[in-house]
Amino acid sequence: MNLDDGIRTIKGIGEKAESAFRKAGVTTVRELLYYFPRSYECFEPPVPASMLRYRDEAAFSGVLLTSPVTRYVRNMKITEAVFRDDSGTVKAVWFNMPYLSGSLKAGSEYVIRGRLNGNGITRRFSQPKVFRAEEYRELESTLRPVYPLNRDLKGNVVSKAVKAALDGGALPEETLSEKLLSAYGLTDIRKAIREIHFPSSKEAFLIARKRLVFEEFYRFLVRIKELKKNVEKVPNSFVFGDRKEVDEVVEALPFTLTGAQAKVLRELRDDVSGPSVMNRLVQGDVGSGKTIIAFLLMYEAALNGYQSAIMAPTEVLAKQHAENFRKWSEAYGLNLSVTLLTGSMTARERRTAEEKIALHQTDIIVGTNALIQEKVHYSDLALVVTDEQHRFGVNQRKALSEKGRMPHVLVMSATPIPRTLGMILYGDMNVSIIDELPKNRLPIKNALVDIEYRGKAYAFIKKELAAGRQAYVICPKVTETEGNEGENVGDYAKALRNVLPGVRVEALHGRMKGEEKERIMEAFGKNEIGVLVSTTVIEVGIDVPNATVIMIENAERFGLAELHQLRGRVGRGQYQSYCILVDTTKSDASRERLEVLASSNDGFFIASEDLRLRGPGDFFGIRQSGDLAFRLADIYKDAAILKCAEEAAERTVKREDGVSSPVL
Ligand code: ADP
Ligand code: MG
Repeated sequence: MNLDDGIRTIKGIGEKAESAFRKAGVTTVRELLYYFPRSYECFEPPVPASMLRYRDEAAFSGVLLTSPVTRYVRNMKITEAVFRDDSGTVKAVWFNMPYLSGSLKAGSEYVIRGRLNGNGITRRFSQPKVFRAEEYRELESTLRPVYPLNRDLKGNVVSKAVKAALDGGALPEETLSEKLLSAYGLTDIRKAIREIHFPSSKEAFLIARKRLVFEEFYRFLVRIKELKKNVEKVPNSFVFGDRKEVDEVVEALPFTLTGAQAKVLRELRDDVSGPSVMNRLVQGDVGSGKTIIAFLLMYEAALNGYQSAIMAPTEVLAKQHAENFRKWSEAYGLNLSVTLLTGSMTARERRTAEEKIALHQTDIIVGTNALIQEKVHYSDLALVVTDEQHRFGVNQRKALSEKGRMPHVLVMSATPIPRTLGMILYGDMNVSIIDELPKNRLPIKNALVDIEYRGKAYAFIKKELAAGRQAYVICPKVTETEGNEGENVGDYAKALRNVLPGVRVEALHGRMKGEEKERIMEAFGKNEIGVLVSTTVIEVGIDVPNATVIMIENAERFGLAELHQLRGRVGRGQYQSYCILVDTTKSDASRERLEVLASSNDGFFIASEDLRLRGPGDFFGIRQSGDLAFRLADIYKDAAILKCAEEAAERTVKREDGVSSPVL
């Protein structure tokens, strides 16, 4: 059997199965062999009656006392049976399965498997599966594959097809070199494929899985590393003279750059004037001052006659950047033209902006993902910046970098991602780290409280407002209508106006019109609004250093890294700032989780805790963006294998050894 043949060549696969498989993306024998189980059903050893715990999934082995009896209750048929082992008796109940009365024999030993319900006095399995004892003993040592199924691909169709293919002589070819296999103690591909579908034991399964996970990581990393090598080789066709005007602005700033900022700015300026196109990630915790660095580099591009573009994940942030850039241009007499481009602009405004861009009547273009639309044509685009990259996918980052003729790429992120994850997401980039906060900052003071504390919190906010400061209150919802629990921005703002008479309290959320959002952010920026009650639209980037309190309602609903970002909205200036986390659950688990945040202001620590608690799939929007779409591998659980694969990939890319024909 040829691996590239269609699956119809496999015995037992007809037209119907073929079309079901096609829907699951499987058309060839090879694709079938690589269609791995989603999980395995494992038949655990039976638990004695005295050790069974309520609501646990468990198996119990016992002798059936009397033939099962079926009763009719309204239009339901209820069959009951009692089993006994040395330590006690257990009841089982089935609905609408009267035939069991005939098939189960009193005095024989059975294993029943399911969830144990009951009220402490009676314990019973409802709707358990029943096995003959010897049948179960055989199953006990196996793992039965569970495949991702669809409406047409049901039951054991996949299992049967894979078995038929393997029995029919479909043999996957080895894809890793002998050297790699022996260096990392990996099993060969044929054994791995067979065992992943039909594990002969747990140990054998783990060995197979290790091999396949390794290969997945390894191929991914080789690709990323090759990409990096290629990018490094793209010659820099832009002429970037080091311009003293940039240094003059640095001198004129109301603050001195931190050592880390100065170092990163130097790296970036060296990159853009170097022999190849820049491809760099700047990572710095919230409030470390990334914006000014990006701005200075864009200014240098403008001085050299080039356009640059910066993409932000929200309109509010794009707008803020545009305003800051205009303000700086004015303050330091830079004579820069800044153009905003977002989705909420009218068709006419957009056309005007697009024209200015195409005719090179503007130097810096600021926008949301509207920047990567096809109809936007840049002129002499030499630098693209993605702010808050973790909110975008790798694909959006790439789309922006493919504008113009291979511009320099700068990516900024506040999320300190653990190294393992960084390798996957940014393995193709050079990395700079801003590991220092501006000197004038005081660490944020945190309080983790329950709802009874609200009164005190409002009194505290009142005091801060009286001292001239401002506050944010974050609610998870926009209006009452979405489900019934959790605070919503609309009602909360109303209620707060009563609590804080004479204070201007405004609401902000993503569903408001662009103009309205702008109006409110502008007024908040000018301290015309005392308290801003907002959803997480302000999560990233927003910079109002005069705000010193952030109170987060229903804190239990947010991820830790997300909360850290939200908290980063305060503590951005010289004033002592505060973060009040309101946990409405009274649950120990929730409190423990939020305690991580309350006890640390270190983004790196929080991100790794978040990753540990939630797993990488939930880590920001990473999975949604499809960046971590591995078949088997899990970058967190398989961190040890990832490390080996990275080392192997590095060697391969350097010395070109180890890979043979690529699979899939
Ligand atoms: P982030 O890294 O989170 O994007 P920003 O660039 O928004 O941070 O900077 C946060 C605030 O710190 C801004 O108000 C900015 O003007 C200010 N800032 C930046 N660099 C410094 C510095 N070296 N000293 C003092 N304040 C600074
Ligand atoms: Mg920022």
